[in-house]
Amino acid sequence: MMKIGLVGLGLIGGSMGLDLRNYGFEVLGVSRKQKTCQQALDLGAVDEASTDLSLLKSVDLIYICTPINTITPILKQLIPHLQPQTIVTDVGSVKKPVVEECSHLWSNFVGGHPMAGKAEQGIEAAQKGLFIKAAYVLTPTSTTPQLAIDSVGEIATILGCQLSICSPETHDRAVAWISHLPAMVSASLIAACMEELDPSVLQLAQNLASSGFRDTSRVGGGNPELGEMMARYNSSQLLNALCQYRQSLDTIIKFIQQEDWCSLQEFLQATQDARSNFL
Ligand code: NAP
Repeated sequence: MMKIGLVGLGLIGGSMGLDLRNYGFEVLGVSRKQKTCQQALDLGAVDEASTDLSLLKSVDLIYICTPINTITPILKQLIPHLQPQTIVTDVGSVKKPVVEECSHLWSNFVGGHPMAGKAEQGIEAAQKGLFIKAAYVLTPTSTTPQLAIDSVGEIATILGCQLSICSPETHDRAVAWISHLPAMVSASLIAACMEELDPSVLQLAQNLASSGFRDTSRVGGGNPELGEMMARYNSSQLLNALCQYRQSLDTIIKFIQQEDWCSLQEFLQATQDARSNFL
């Protein structure tokens, strides 16, 4: 059985550790804070934990599960501890900038993105089975070793994920539509509601909010650091999606201003029909 290393024992790293140990892998975890290492041990997310990357010197495969801006610097620090055959992957939500830098630094690197999450962050939020039925995207380049792709792909399948393989660019463009745009739209929704000027109306709205608001605001109420990283590292694709979204909003505004109910209904019919193609 492979020996697995995790760097970053937060929501994603902690959840991966819980499942990987459950499936019989030996899991060694490294995190920045000693307290997080202890929590991961107490939760059973890792067999051993340390704040020192040298703990991972004998593992077969390493998942870097830290914020997007730290993935390349962590790989640089890891390299002196790695065996040539060690496979390194990451779980970052944006792929092109990460894969460009990391595959240059370590030829046995393959970019990955398990597409599961929740609003909470940190080891406290780690949960068993988080990845079941989730998409897991691998983003190899023309030079990525096949063994690295196969190894990370096999483990994704063991975790219960549905595997997809595409280029880093295609990944970033696709997730801009279905993940990064929704995060910004949902945040804008919450921000717009907070603009209600009458405090008693705002209070009533807050009291009345239920499932519809819960569904549409969920991803806007998530980890702000992650939202910022998605925007910073996938800015051109996200801006393209946001501009298209603004056009859609303008179309709806125009139909309502012109009392063009027929066109509005056609618009909503088309979105009702299209939704099932995404979910
Ligand atoms: P998180 O819960 O905040 O966990 C990140 C962990 O990384 C923290 O617990 C922190 O551990 C550790 N860390 C931060 N800087 C570090 C450093 N320099 N060295 C070592 N450890 C460090 O975040 P997350 O949601 O798991 O996200 C982690 C990665 O997964 C990101 O790249 C994100 O894009 C990706 N991702 C997130 C989601 C999601 O929905 N949340 C989904 C898919 C992929 P300490 O407590 O020790 O400081």
